[in-house]
Amino acid sequence: MNVVKSILTKTNFSKDDIIRLLKANEDEKQIIFKKAFNIKEKYCKNKVYLRALIEVSNICKKDCFYCGIRKSNPKTVRYEIPIQKIKDLIGFAYANNYSSVVLQSGENAGKGFCKKITEALMYTKQINRQTGITLSCGEQTTDTYQQWFDAGAERYLLRIETSNRELYHKIHPVDTKHCFERRIEALKTIKKIGYQTGTGVMIGLPFQTVEDLAADLLFMQNLDIDMCGMGPYIEHNDTPLYRYHEMLEPVQQRAGQTLLMIALLRIMMKDINIAATTALHTIDKKNITQAIYCGANIIMPNITPLKYRENYFLYKNKHSVNSVDYHLENLKNELNNIDHIIDYQSLGNSIHYLRKLK
Ligand code: SAH
Repeated sequence: MNVVKSILTKTNFSKDDIIRLLKANEDEKQIIFKKAFNIKEKYCKNKVYLRALIEVSNICKKDCFYCGIRKSNPKTVRYEIPIQKIKDLIGFAYANNYSSVVLQSGENAGKGFCKKITEALMYTKQINRQTGITLSCGEQTTDTYQQWFDAGAERYLLRIETSNRELYHKIHPVDTKHCFERRIEALKTIKKIGYQTGTGVMIGLPFQTVEDLAADLLFMQNLDIDMCGMGPYIEHNDTPLYRYHEMLEPVQQRAGQTLLMIALLRIMMKDINIAATTALHTIDKKNITQAIYCGANIIMPNITPLKYRENYFLYKNKHSVNSVDYHLENLKNELNNIDHIIDYQSLGNSIHYLRKLK
């Protein structure tokens, strides 16, 4: 039997198994994708859940070497969407049948900002207790995580970015604000408080190896995450990591590797939520349906008003699935081609999380 087929019969993959799968050729990839598709159909059905993404603020106290909204990028025009506008956007999401919203921001632990998020959460639950909320606002104190959870947030996404400590410190400044161990601690706190916990990595970073990617998948499995968002690394001219752009694989290849990572994670963690991310969409919008085919089940249409969105510029050419009806109609048709539907009725909570609760 082909070695890939033989590995795929196992219930648990070793690191070497994953490394071999990550080196799959085109034919072998099709076998892996098909397996991931079947698993998703069995555990998550042929459904896609939408999350309306609001990029609340690009004010950030961190200086991650890859990120366009890092504190030391003077070209970034900073904004914080006023609370009333955030409430309007949440109302818009609800009126347009989104059963869930994601509030994402740069890392800002200021009291005013934390209170604003709390107010937005309380407002969401006030207009409709049934709307699901995911936060992606970086590392915060235990008290803040608890306060937001108590105010109604049920999911938190904090990417580890890479599970290789050494690589983590190559792509971040080495100081207490950018500490690998602290990021892991934050993930554990989020989980302990009771959030559906999500993490993820960037794929195709300079210095990253196939061994690192295999370790990333095992890291997520060991942490027993409920949700994942991972995407290709895309260089941004005004960041320190840009100096290595010549050593990167072509973006299409980074996107291809991301699809393979999604498929393998689906095979390893059958009932978690996996997002088809904005970075994948930026490289090619066809990647969104391709990611759904490979095992993803979440799409995050961006409803941030354009005047803010153009300043949430994490990487080159960033653009996302749009909230405009035309795009959603297109998306519906594309999903229909792979026999998938958008489920507007359900919150799309992580089945993995719900199963653990029982
Ligand atoms: N401040 C929040 C959200 C950060 S932005 C936090 O710390 O979690 C969301 C994600 O965008 C990051 O976690 C990172 O993985 C991704 N990102 C940032 N710069 C990127 C780049 N150049 N290419 C691809 N993804 C990037």
